[in-house]
Amino acid sequence: MARIYIETFGCQMNEADSQYIADRAVAAGYAMAHHPEEANVVVLNTCTVRDNAERRAYGRMHHFKLLKERDPGVRLIVTGCLAEQDRDRMQGLAPHVDAVFGTKELVALGDRLDAWRAEYDDIAVVDDETLAGDALLVQPFGGTADGIADAFSHLRAFVTVQRGCSYYCTFCIVPHVRGRFDHRPMAEIIEDVRARVEAGAREVMLVGQTVNAWHDAVTGARFGDLCAALPDPERLTFISPHPKDFTEGMLAQLSRLPNLNPRIHLPLQSGSDAVLRRMNRKYTRAAFEERIVWIRKHLPAWAITTDIIVGFPGESESDFEQTLELVRAGIFANAFTFMYSQRRGTPAARWEQVPQAIVAERFRRLVEAQNASTQAYHARKVGGVARCLLAGTSKKDPAKLVSKSGDNVTVIAPKPPDYVDEAYARTPWLDVAVDAAHLWGCMGRVVRKAALVNDLGRAVVPPAIDLIAG
Ligand code: SF4
Repeated sequence: MARIYIETFGCQMNEADSQYIADRAVAAGYAMAHHPEEANVVVLNTCTVRDNAERRAYGRMHHFKLLKERDPGVRLIVTGCLAEQDRDRMQGLAPHVDAVFGTKELVALGDRLDAWRAEYDDIAVVDDETLAGDALLVQPFGGTADGIADAFSHLRAFVTVQRGCSYYCTFCIVPHVRGRFDHRPMAEIIEDVRARVEAGAREVMLVGQTVNAWHDAVTGARFGDLCAALPDPERLTFISPHPKDFTEGMLAQLSRLPNLNPRIHLPLQSGSDAVLRRMNRKYTRAAFEERIVWIRKHLPAWAITTDIIVGFPGESESDFEQTLELVRAGIFANAFTFMYSQRRGTPAARWEQVPQAIVAERFRRLVEAQNASTQAYHARKVGGVARCLLAGTSKKDPAKLVSKSGDNVTVIAPKPPDYVDEAYARTPWLDVAVDAAHLWGCMGRVVRKAALVNDLGRAVVPPAIDLIAG
């Protein structure tokens, strides 16, 4: 049987695109491969948001050259933002790549997979020794192998509501590679969510570069209307909103939806008005703080998470201190923190840069401050019970389960004695008694499992051996 392997770098937008590619491939008759060595077609879904993501993608492309040397019939496909940005020079840098599809050419990629399918009737079985010999190929180097059906992959679905972005932040490559806003019609999104829920999705994540700027050109519906009109997935969440596009009315509307996950991502980027202006972020610090007040008023129990860039061109010590002040106020349950990375083709890449040593030192202080808040947020869960959606077996320890709470905290627990993948996939809501807090999340014990998010659930027998203590 024909097999396809998909490896994804970058954001949830790419995750959603990989899910689309996997769906098209399966519909065309491919099976998902767990390792690139087992595949007839290898798809690398790339990211350019940071320089190291770009370098990792090229590194991976060169590793995949080994596959083609062993079997010239294998096709290597590159898609995603790097494919869009480097379409012309990729031929010179990686001539073994068979085809490059930009971010707006996923339908064409699906059609091509369909056309190739007939060529791959028989695949040689790859033995374990060959797999072991190709260990380098098995390492995703920061990417994730996607679309591989396990007992849990259908529980979460990404649904793209919008492509591209028209905001042109001066550090961001997205509008240059993905183009301006292209909002999907409301009826199409609702149908997509319905299909995902029917296929078993318990949690639906709406995905867009500026997801809350979504609107329907025909009906005039805005993002809050869309969330309210969806056919009730057990849990609903969205990423990544823009502070500018939240109104108090939209937040009040969202607060009335019982199935929304209690977490809101509000990318700050900088606490300094001067830096926000140079970033072209279209909001001031006061406007950002106003949104925090609205969230606290309408969604008081929600976790707020954020993105912050340190060392943007022109950032002075006093600018940085203003960011640090907001972080030290303990507003954010978690933060994705970045040192500014020059992206070719963006305005900020041409500006005078902050010396690297200063950026690194500020980054250290920022991370230290945020880590204290994150640890404190996780510590508040100790002694309580978190209802979590099962994600699968821990990669580090096969005796443990990984799950996610509604506020997006990773919760790990030993597998109960009656644990079987398929049975737990039918009762994927776990009540986990939280015993310990870490920077990465929490540890605990599964005490109940439930088939539906609002069910009380049934008690779970605890493991005979205390694996947490181990
Ligand atoms: S809002 Fe800014 S950072 Fe976000 S995708 Fe658009 S241009 Fe990039």
